[in-house]
Amino acid sequence: MRLLEYEAKQLLRQATVAVPSGTLITSSSQLTDLPLPIVLKAQVPIGGRGKLGGVVVVDTPDGISNSVQSMLKMNIKGYTPASLLAEEKLDIDAEYYLALLIDYSSSDIKLVAHTNGGVDVEENELSDFFTVSIDATNITDCAAQVSDYLNYPLADIDRLVHQLYSTFIENDMTLLEVNPLVRTTSGELVCGDCKIELDASALFRHPDWNYEQPHLDANFVTLNPDGNIATIANGAGLAMATVDAISASGLKPINFLDIGGGANVASILHAFERIVSFPGTEAIVINIFAGITRCDEVARAIIEAKNTLSDLPPLFIRLAGTNFEDAVAILKKENITTLATLEECIDAVLESRHA
Ligand code: GDP
Ligand code: MN
Repeated sequence: MRLLEYEAKQLLRQATVAVPSGTLITSSSQLTDLPLPIVLKAQVPIGGRGKLGGVVVVDTPDGISNSVQSMLKMNIKGYTPASLLAEEKLDIDAEYYLALLIDYSSSDIKLVAHTNGGVDVEENELSDFFTVSIDATNITDCAAQVSDYLNYPLADIDRLVHQLYSTFIENDMTLLEVNPLVRTTSGELVCGDCKIELDASALFRHPDWNYEQPHLDANFVTLNPDGNIATIANGAGLAMATVDAISASGLKPINFLDIGGGANVASILHAFERIVSFPGTEAIVINIFAGITRCDEVARAIIEAKNTLSDLPPLFIRLAGTNFEDAVAILKKENITTLATLEECIDAVLESRHA
């Protein structure tokens, strides 16, 4: 489960790691008396936002409301932010990279660092990163090595590495990446950005995990942001077959989506929201063979999407399986029809384009 930056920083704050002070905003009416300059950061579950306009420094009161309005409409690799993190601007002296991650090849946890962090961190050679195996018994030793490597005082690095290691273990993380770890001009270490992945298999022992959306998106894969046909299916096999059949007909599938067995109105509606954020979506092909998934739940989500999304493209729907009759009855009230097979859906899409 991938957390959003503000959720990740909340965990860091609980672990008493230094993070910039900030406020989560969802509309430009919430801007009164934010201190300037301020950094606005789009809350989307992907990195590289800086280079795509998703991180903006604002200096003037006028600039801020314009920036907020336009950023809330942005499409960043298929994601439109529902919120922005408005943070105090850091005065950056240096940007480091520091991460903890599970190394599956050696079945241990690695502490990874680089003196050259920030947006271009991938340009560093993999072999250039400082890497050491860390466990509960050698944290201080690892911290000392990182302190030497970064040429930064041991007391600060030791405290930080202990804090990060504890929160990594307590929260069943598989990745905790601080990039940039900022050295400010006044000589403090502050977490500028943070990416956290939680182990979804540990959900059972964290009843408090209530994160925004990442698990809803787990099986949504953007295949071609410039494509023309979006897909919603259930089961990985059927979802792949749906994409393949669309490709074979000469259309360009935008995405792969397996809505999964536990799909409900909210999670399916979320998929519709993501789909309409792609500019070229001409149609949505919905292909459900319901077992654990229920056709009536899918039907309710379709109605909800029709009622709430103004830019919903035409739907081509094939439903079969659990609660099929209920679904047909629900859809019929809204004059929405279904087709018997995926082939019929694709033929109907092709016809509608030639019409
Ligand atoms: P990412 O591109 O999605 O990883 O977003 P980041 O939060 O890492 O921000 C990208 C870059 O924006 C950072 O590496 C910084 O160079 C710059 N940046 C972000 N916040 C601040 C800030 O408070 N002050 C300054 N000077 N630069 C910032
Ligand atoms: Mn970053």
